[in-house]
Amino acid sequence: MKFFELSELPYGTDALEPHVSAETLEFHHGKHHAGYVDTLNELLTQEGAEPAELEHFVLTAEGAVSENAGQAWNHAFYWESMAPDGGGEPGRDVAAALEEAFGGTDAFREQFAREAVSHFGSGWAWLVATQAGRLEIVTTHDARCPLRDGSVPLLTCDVWEHAYYLDHRNDRGAYLDAFFEVVDWQRVAERLATTTLLYGARRA
Ligand code: MN
Repeated sequence: MKFFELSELPYGTDALEPHVSAETLEFHHGKHHAGYVDTLNELLTQEGAEPAELEHFVLTAEGAVSENAGQAWNHAFYWESMAPDGGGEPGRDVAAALEEAFGGTDAFREQFAREAVSHFGSGWAWLVATQAGRLEIVTTHDARCPLRDGSVPLLTCDVWEHAYYLDHRNDRGAYLDAFFEVVDWQRVAERLATTTLLYGARRA
């Protein structure tokens, strides 16, 4: 049974060139992301699971279902963290939020890249809004999604080696530089606005 379809890339596979190559996107979306969705469908079929939103499995599943649901969700979110017209500087609201939380956009980029590069092994680097209404940079191992920890993701960068090995070999730092050339600040702004609606009242 097909519980989930592979979400389409929101742009062509060559749209993020030269920062993210078409070859990387073709493999990363068409093989890796697709593989997680296929495996999730197989596992849920074997279990006889009831159909539910992907977030249901991200939030509640254990073991292999949790891992594949997390990877299915995280990758869809990652594609929407980049854009062909991305990069540059964020708009006023995001810039103000990064200033308050990290001391500025440059300071945010530096800290985010540092934590992403130093994350041991496979995983994800995130900008999240915590339930306390604070922006934080976190990294998660393997398929872990911050939704599971009660935080709202605003931005993510995949730091599994398959995300950058074709373009940068083992140089994760160069990959982070390229990521910020296509980062979708507009999407971050939309997510932040929604999060402020959710959590704004809790801000101290
Ligand atoms: Mn990946």
